[in-house]
Amino acid sequence: MTDLPPDLPRLRTLETWLAYTLDEVRAAIRQAERREAERQHGIQDRPRPPDWLLETGLNRNSPPVQVHQGDCWNRGKRTRGISLDEARRAITEGVKPCDACRPDSALGLLDSQEALRDAARARWVRLLTRTQHTAEGDAQA
Ligand SMILES: [Zn+2]
Repeated sequence: MTDLPPDLPRLRTLETWLAYTLDEVRAAIRQAERREAERQHGIQDRPRPPDWLLETGLNRNSPPVQVHQGDCWNRGKRTRGISLDEARRAITEGVKPCDACRPDSALGLLDSQEALRDAARARWVRLLTRTQHTAEGDAQA
């Protein structure tokens, strides 16, 4: 700093101002460090939400209500975390997949269910047309 004032009063004022500013900057640094530490701490400590949830019935004896993805906004109050296999099994065993988060779709079950339905429909159509043909054939014979 070459352009400092030469006189003592102004140098003292400048010193006071700089000291004050330095204190403020250091306080801000401490605060930022604390926030960063809390953030790190939070990331490490926060338990990871389960990937899949089973929404259970009102009591022990009632059947499970729905299967959800872990982050579903529509999950009920009574849920417990389940594994991917458990979620898949629950849905294939008839537990309703939630309409909001579509765990069946996420698990790839939706496609296979639709494929099964389509296959069943196609089989029916084939069966019906064959029966018709046979009936016509019988009528002609
Ligand atoms: Zn859901």
